[in-house]
Amino acid sequence: MSQNNEDLEEKKLLGSGGYAFAKLTENEEIKANLGVPHLFLANVGRLAEDRFLRYYCNKCGKEHDGCPLLVYEVPNEEVAENVILVEKGEYKCRNCNNTIAQYRKFSQ
Ligand SMILES: [Zn+2]
Repeated sequence: MSQNNEDLEEKKLLGSGGYAFAKLTENEEIKANLGVPHLFLANVGRLAEDRFLRYYCNKCGKEHDGCPLLVYEVPNEEVAENVILVEKGEYKCRNCNNTIAQYRKFSQ
């Protein structure tokens, strides 16, 4: 799938331990929006490092350039009938290891 024709827009994505500024496609923006005026990093899930511009860590109390550290695993584990936990990940501050946001991706 080519994204060449899509406009990337800089957006603020909220997390539990801070927030990040990243460039999103329109589809990603729709995915991150739960009908409230904020976008959540947890709903975007895994995003390429080069999409991030900077992030803010609540624990450091300041912004850092670049992307937070992403740690993820792909458990493919059945957590309920016909529901598979496909991927779970965590964005962490590169400076202090504080969790910026977590996400879970389920089949269905
Ligand atoms: Zn930090």
